[in-house]
Order: sequence, then C-alpha cells, then structure tokens
Amino acid sequence: MTYQTHSIFGILTMLVITKSIGSFFAIDLLSLEALLLYPAVIVGALLPDIDIENSKISSNLKPIAKIINWLGFKHRGLTHSLLGGIILNLPFYALYRYDLIPKIIFTGLVIGYLSHLLADMLNPTGVPLFYPFRKKFSIFIIPTSSKAEAVFKAGITIAVIVLLVDDLGIINILKWGPNLNVNIKRS
Ligand SMILES: [Zn+2]
Repeated sequence: MTYQTHSIFGILTMLVITKSIGSFFAIDLLSLEALLLYPAVIVGALLPDIDIENSKISSNLKPIAKIINWLGFKHRGLTHSLLGGIILNLPFYALYRYDLIPKIIFTGLVIGYLSHLLADMLNPTGVPLFYPFRKKFSIFIIPTSSKAEAVFKAGITIAVIVLLVDDLGIINILKWGPNLNVNIKRS
C-alpha cells in the first residue's frame, strides 16, 4: 500500500480506538494536545516500511534505514511483525519512560505501527505477524496501487472525515437540532 493509504488508515484506526475506548486517551481529538497524536500515528504507520530503501520513511530516517538494510532484512520481514514492532518502538518507550516524550506520542506510534500491519494484511502478500515464523497472514485482497486500493483509500478518507465531523458535534446538531436547554417548569 502507498504511504498515503497507510497514513489515512493509521488515523482511522486511532479514531476508532479513541472513540470506542474513550477513556483510553481521555483527550479532545480536536484539542491542541491531540495535535501531537496525529503526526505520531502517521510516523508509526509508516515506520514498518523502513525496510524499503526508497520508502517515504526511509528517506526521512536514512541512518536507521541503512542499518536495517545492512542487517539484510528483506521487505515484509521483521519490521512487519509484532516482534519488529516491539523492537522499533522500544526506543520511543524509553523516551516516554524518562519523560522525554509525552505518553500520547508513544501511544500514537504504537497504534500507527499496528495499523500498518493490519493494512498490509489486506494485501495478497500478507505479513509475517509472528516472525521469525515465516507464515504470512493475509485476510483480504487489495493489491498495492490497484483500483481496489483507490476505492479503499477513498472509503477510509470519508470515514476519517465523518469521525472528525462527529467529534465537532455537527452530526448531533443535524440530528437533534440546537440544544436550547429549555427547562419547562411544571406546577
Ligand atoms: Zn508495509
């Protein structure tokens, strides 16, 4: 999948998690604090593709990409597994533990990372979720840069917009009309 699809899918995953487990973040998704969450999710959602030499994330994190490359990790190997997720997110966990980055950034990175694995599982190639076991998991078929991916991308973009708009309360306003807070006194 392209980096745009991964970024949007990461945001969608985060919104769904936040909205289904509201107390998980306990933040307003349109607040200033949440502004840290969105880029963190996107970085997390692109991080697994550090195993591709010319990917978006590799060109931004050249030293790490070079090490991964030098270690001989092939595309959709270690970095596309739960073990790889733990290894690559460990430095961020340390930064969070020592109060060098806020929890929201670390959580965003992890959610983004997991969303990437999930999205790549929709691809026929699948991902070796339990690496070093090489069995690849694939649950649906959306070939990269195909028409199906374009439709998928459009669908998840709409879902993100709907969820954000829902956060603004616009949908509720449309549904129920303005809340006038009229108290009818009964005698
Ligand atoms: Zn990938």
